[in-house]
Amino acid sequence: MQNYTDLIATITPAHGEKRDVFDPATGELISQAPVQGVPDLEAAVTRATSAQISWAALSDEKRRNYLHRAADAVEESAEALAELLSREQGKPLNGPNARFEVGACAVWLRSAADTELPVEVLVDDGESYAEMHYRPIGVVGAIAPWNWPMMIAIWQIAPSLRMGNTVITKPAETTTLSGLALASVLNQVLPEGVLSVVAGPGRTVGEAMVTHPAIGKIMFTGSTPVGKKIIAASANNVTRLTLELGGNDAGIVLPDVNPKEIAEGLFWGAFINTGQTCAAMKRLYVHDSVYDEVVAELTAFAKNVPMGRGLEEQNVLGPLQNRAQYEIVDRLVESARASGARVVLGGDPNREAVGNFYPATLVTDIDPHNDLVVEEQFGPALPIIRYTDLDEVIGLANELEVGLGASVWSANRERAREIAARIHSGTVWINAHGTLNPMVPFGGVKHSGYGREFGVEGLKAVSEPQVISM
Ligand code: NAD
Repeated sequence: MQNYTDLIATITPAHGEKRDVFDPATGELISQAPVQGVPDLEAAVTRATSAQISWAALSDEKRRNYLHRAADAVEESAEALAELLSREQGKPLNGPNARFEVGACAVWLRSAADTELPVEVLVDDGESYAEMHYRPIGVVGAIAPWNWPMMIAIWQIAPSLRMGNTVITKPAETTTLSGLALASVLNQVLPEGVLSVVAGPGRTVGEAMVTHPAIGKIMFTGSTPVGKKIIAASANNVTRLTLELGGNDAGIVLPDVNPKEIAEGLFWGAFINTGQTCAAMKRLYVHDSVYDEVVAELTAFAKNVPMGRGLEEQNVLGPLQNRAQYEIVDRLVESARASGARVVLGGDPNREAVGNFYPATLVTDIDPHNDLVVEEQFGPALPIIRYTDLDEVIGLANELEVGLGASVWSANRERAREIAARIHSGTVWINAHGTLNPMVPFGGVKHSGYGREFGVEGLKAVSEPQVISM
């Protein structure tokens, strides 16, 4: 069992270039992160390329075993990992936040270990025979964002390792310690060179990873603009890509709901991780006949949800992870207010305070084309749009370039399912939003990216299919 002090000691650089890391809730100095660059990437590629040969030569059963032992190691250091995550990312220990994220790392490791991907017999008709194998790609480059820095890294690392690849991971610049701490715990059990971290800062190392001829696949989770740059940069080496990009998920509430019953689900669908979640509900469309009641119930629920420093056990909402994101949320809420929309809860943060706290904010009577609706706010501010015509609201849900998730809220599941079929997104939840399962493929359509993570699809995405034909 590792405690926080031991864990941070294992990742604090003793020498070399380093930079200070601050707590987004208090501005306090937490520790220092290494500054690494292209030479460190080159060294990691050499290690990963050499380790991949023996890693791929292990039996599938042995690799599964390693993943289970890695999950055990995460569970043994869970509290230290959660504390570090809370200090660096800002998210509270409790609620669907830091402890939940660390727990999910173990769950996703075990799921990647236990998912079956047998050889598929494609044709066997007496005359021809063909079977499909899934081979390792080689070295996988895993580029992570700052919102769920451990869980999303595991989504990239676990299936890649299971399929016989080695991995070089690059954390986001504002959550470097979380990426390093996670890897240090996994490396307590993994063989040397199988998993490396190159700390960044991001762009230089990220760009070098995408164009490196020895990195066969990039797993990228981050913004759509960076995803587009990665697509362009990957062309030369025909590097394989899985792109989990930005979203602006719509929730559609039908007239037959019970507003009180759905208020809590709506709240967490939008405010999970203080709104800093790719597949959070970012715009809520409510039918005119229940609009006022839904707003009242949501407001009643939201105003009692404690926000504050992550290490204080009562809090379940935290600060924005970085000031740039805080400023995006602030700008969007102010522009909505200036356009005549009503801020019924929140807004008005203390801009002089040290921490990046932006209160849970609900904005009503807003134009469906206001910036707060059509741009990704990625924070705790939900626009609630009134509608009367179902076809029109489905058009609004579908009109943006992104399509990660969406939800339909109704007492009639069949009706909701019919509406779901008309929505352009990778997932449509019914009477929930953003719930994930390691066996259920997850990913976006349109500019939210391509490729799927999790389950059998996720294993296939980090392999090369090979047909053996006789
Ligand atoms: P970002 O795109 O700014 O950064 C993501 C990562 O890419 C970081 O590690 C960064 O250092 C690196 N990077 C930056 N420029 C690069 C380049 N040119 N080449 C290679 N790598 C580069 O995103 P962010 O601000 O960290 O995360 C927020 C965004 O991520 C939001 O849009 C959110 O919706 C999206 N996101 C999507 C998912 C999903 O599963 N679809 C999950 C989480 C976050």
